Amino acid sequence: MGKEKLLLIGNGMAGVNAIEHLKKLAPDKYDITIFGAEPYPNYNRIMLSYVLAGDTKQEEIYINDYDWYEKNGIRLYTGQRVSSIDPAAKTVTSDGAAGPMTTSYDKLVIATGSNAFVIPIPGSQLPGVIAYRTIRDTELMREAAKKYKKAVVIGGGLLGLEAARGLLNLGMQVEVVHIGDCLMERQLDKTASKLLQTSLEQQGMKFLMEKSSAEILGKERATGLKFADGTWTEADLIVMAVGIRPNVSLAKEAGLDVVQGITVNDWLETSAPDVYAVGECAQHRGVAYGLVAPLYEQGAVLAKRLAGVDGAPYEGSVVYTKLKVSGVDVFSGGQFIEDAETKAIRVHDDWSGIYKKVLVKGSKIVGAVLFGDTSESTRLMQLIKSQADITKMEITKLLQESGAEGGGGGGTEGMVAAMADDAVVCGCNGVSKGTICSAIRECGLTTVEGVKDATTASRSCGGCKPLVAALLKTTLGDEFDAAASAKASICGCTTLSREEVVAGIKEKGLTHVREVMHVLGWKEPEGCSKCRPAVNYYLSMINPSTYKDDRTSRFVNERMHANIQKDGTYSVVPRMYGGVTTPSELKKIAEVAEKYNVPTVKLTGGQRIDLLGVKKEDLVPMWTDLDMPSGYAYGKALRTVKTCVGADFCRFGTADSMGMGIALEKKFERLNTPAKVKMAVSGCPRNCAESGIKDMGIVAIDGGWELYAGGNGGVKVRAGDLLATVKTEQDVMEYIAAYLQYYRETGNYGERTSEWIVRVGLDHVRGVVEDADRRRELCERMDEALAATKDPWKEAVETAAIRKDLYEVIETAK
Ligand SMILES: Cc1cc2nc3c(=O)[nH]c(=O)nc-3n(C[C@H](O)[C@H](O)[C@H](O)COP(=O)(O)OP(=O)(O)OC[C@H]3O[C@@H](n4cnc5c(N)ncnc54)[C@H](O)[C@@H]3O)c2cc1C
Ligand code: SF4
Ligand code: SF4
Repeated sequence: MGKEKLLLIGNGMAGVNAIEHLKKLAPDKYDITIFGAEPYPNYNRIMLSYVLAGDTKQEEIYINDYDWYEKNGIRLYTGQRVSSIDPAAKTVTSDGAAGPMTTSYDKLVIATGSNAFVIPIPGSQLPGVIAYRTIRDTELMREAAKKYKKAVVIGGGLLGLEAARGLLNLGMQVEVVHIGDCLMERQLDKTASKLLQTSLEQQGMKFLMEKSSAEILGKERATGLKFADGTWTEADLIVMAVGIRPNVSLAKEAGLDVVQGITVNDWLETSAPDVYAVGECAQHRGVAYGLVAPLYEQGAVLAKRLAGVDGAPYEGSVVYTKLKVSGVDVFSGGQFIEDAETKAIRVHDDWSGIYKKVLVKGSKIVGAVLFGDTSESTRLMQLIKSQADITKMEITKLLQESGAEGGGGGGTEGMVAAMADDAVVCGCNGVSKGTICSAIRECGLTTVEGVKDATTASRSCGGCKPLVAALLKTTLGDEFDAAASAKASICGCTTLSREEVVAGIKEKGLTHVREVMHVLGWKEPEGCSKCRPAVNYYLSMINPSTYKDDRTSRFVNERMHANIQKDGTYSVVPRMYGGVTTPSELKKIAEVAEKYNVPTVKLTGGQRIDLLGVKKEDLVPMWTDLDMPSGYAYGKALRTVKTCVGADFCRFGTADSMGMGIALEKKFERLNTPAKVKMAVSGCPRNCAESGIKDMGIVAIDGGWELYAGGNGGVKVRAGDLLATVKTEQDVMEYIAAYLQYYRETGNYGERTSEWIVRVGLDHVRGVVEDADRRRELCERMDEALAATKDPWKEAVETAAIRKDLYEVIETAK
């Protein structure tokens, strides 16, 4: 007897995952054919957000490439849409790349996913209006971002916010329109939602809340969006991310039971014999799920059913969500709003911007919301799923770090040991504990990176890394290489850490960005927006006098040497040493502002003058007229040295804070650093210059100066630590030079001193700068770096090629 014919409609995440399981359980039971309407092998839709943001390439999100289908003897028709099912004749008809076909089946699986919902308002069919669901949609958005300036995303849910973040990354101005007053209201309570909004606003996203979209404006292409209240906003691109609808048309027309999705029982069987449905198109016990983890749980049950292997029925899933937006950590799992039967355990730390809530019903945890620190999400999710009894746990420790003793009974290792083999560890990629443990044993893996490469676990959001590490530890015992596992590669294009990249550059004498990627074996030859600027910085730090800056590896503000503002104009901030100016300098700034119709002149928090709203073509002429150095208001470099008036004028001042600030700024201006650096000098311990929250704060005391290191007044406020107390101005200069050079040499690119000092340790840094020999060596290397700096505005004014390349100046004969 020949093999049974199994036919899958939908080459997406849920369907192919079920086939993968089936192939393991019963490799030869079926002759398998898959029809997919999209022209690719199956891919990880979750990762589209990374593709949109430019962090990942399309090919990298393929879950199984064409070879996999071939190796497994699976017939795949891509670009082939099934148009009807005949359950009586057991056939499906399709059309597309392979032409019209009718194909018979013994067993049929429908996994057609969902369609993105497009609000049926006038204009919704215009070019420039895009839904967000597929690789094609992502490509369209990336293409639009190259040509157009302003995007409006309708929908403040997970998908809308991820789309908005991606478009911001692509340099667009982005407004998110949301009908309710709270973002992600299906996953977050009001407190978390407001924290999220503030955090995204700080990233440059704008919000139009409580707005109902009524009409898309434009004739040939979308030009704006009008709201029900009569107001409107301009838009070159409109992205609809307002929800999904299960794709049930085939099933409905074939007479299957359909409510919202295709009705399935606990074995994923539909109302027609031998026809199954799985994934977003299915509705189980009244629920149609829109996230991957439940769909994979369904797939595992379906595979067993098809393989004829006994197994537990599918009884529904507890869902959880993480927002994949860098710099914003949000998690929500299970129930997230209190009701009469639940009690909430809450931590709200305004200071660090952390909010955590766990909901308990009776003796069981039923849900959690985490904002700002989501390290406990996987552990909490396990407690929710396993319905663990929390009466034996110490309540205050419930919200402690995953590794903490007592935090859920036995820490992370105890928890992974208790997990069943088919329990999903990595929800984003559907990788179970069993798969990870076999890969560790069979492939001899010893690091989290190794597990990631072999199984895809932790490839997306990375939230499951602590669990993978714990599995390595429990599987390998003493052989577990904790140090290698803790190693973080600088980005997904390489497995090398910062230290390894820096050592590689030094040992092999590498001199430019592409060479580093080539010689050190980058997986992605072009690199990405994360590693290219980092490598560019490391090269310039190692070879300051010989390195030629790779402008293409700079973020746009640093490339342009001006901050691009929300409306596409630039801001010009001239250097104003120590926050001190002169009447003639002021007059010049005022005249230039008038000449170029600068709409806004503002004093910055760092005591300088910001000329806002400057057109790109005016930048170079303005710099010429100003004839002042760049204030580096855009750079990973020394920004400002804020000063108080000090001994010259203040009744309390014991030292010349202005003089000291000016000297420091003159010495260290233009210095490239891993992240921006701000300083302040106060003339007495009253500290009017706020030296306690600067990367380096200097405070005059009787007979000397106190130096405060690692302060930060930004998103994560941190008070600086007393690094040293010194006597003379010469000491101040030397200590600061050594401190900054040590930070330059050991800081990860993008890491502020406030994070760096915690990572490397205050005592360690103190030991380095207090050691006279090391201090001298560091100062020497600092001098070498400073000697190589040039003022970028002056360079642009004097170099026609730079003007032409960057500022599109049309040269005219003089
Ligand atoms: C940008 C984005 C980010 C996301 N982020 C997350 C996240 O962080 N976490 C999470 O859990 N989930 C996330 N999701 C949701 C997740 O991707 C889906 O839940 C999952 O892909 C659904 O799997 P599925 O197989 O049911 O549907 P799909 O993966 O959509 O697969 C269905 C396939 O069927 C094909 N098809 C449809 N009709 C036909 C037909 N008639 N003939 C042939 N083929 C057909 C479609 O072309 C499609 O390829 C995200 C989704 C998007 C779009
Ligand atoms: S410092 Fe002020 S202007 Fe700059 S990002 Fe923060 S809030 Fe916005
Ligand atoms: S810090 Fe001291 S010296 Fe400076 S302005 Fe304040 S009181 Fe005066």
